[in-house]
Amino acid sequence: MNDDFTRVLYTQDAIDERLAQIAAEIDRDYRDKDLLLVGVLTGAVMVMADLSRALTSHCQMDWMAISSYGAGTKSSGVVRILKDLNTDIAGRDVLVVEDIIDTGLTLSYLLSNLESRNPASLNIMTMFRKPEAVENRVDVRYVGYDIPNEFVVGYGLDYGERYRNLKGLATLAPHIYS
Ligand code: 5GP
Repeated sequence: MNDDFTRVLYTQDAIDERLAQIAAEIDRDYRDKDLLLVGVLTGAVMVMADLSRALTSHCQMDWMAISSYGAGTKSSGVVRILKDLNTDIAGRDVLVVEDIIDTGLTLSYLLSNLESRNPASLNIMTMFRKPEAVENRVDVRYVGYDIPNEFVVGYGLDYGERYRNLKGLATLAPHIYS
């Protein structure tokens, strides 16, 4: 699999180091609260597993699966819920755990959907963030790493359902696309 990448942006060690810092912030911010982590399948599986284990306080986990409508590689922001939460989030302190935010369109749909269920609070943690999300001022409480505007794989992120199990984050070699 190593020939498939041009560059490793972050190793698992770098990810773990950053997650430990974020987990300490979350522990502090949610002290005395009943934290519910909401992961978006499938990309957020790795960050959910590592972030939740880096926390020292109690938390619950739940999952949503969504699919984007529209053709092309760019997000349309129109999404369909394939699997909804098992938890009633009314009155709960919800932290959405994301793998990556690019335009933020998918997230903004998800947030308005979750907001309508009246949680006590609703915040976002993302492991990686692309420049467009910064330009669009997507309101993210915790960010792992800001990355360049390149297509990346690994740490839960796929290309044609492959590479999710790569431990770090990498850019794909051109021969993979052709
Ligand atoms: P957004 O709606 O923020 O533009 O897109 C978010 C979704 O697009 C992410 O949850 C992820 O599934 C996908 N995505 C965005 N950028 C990348 C990338 O560089 N690599 C991979 N594998 N998926 C990406």
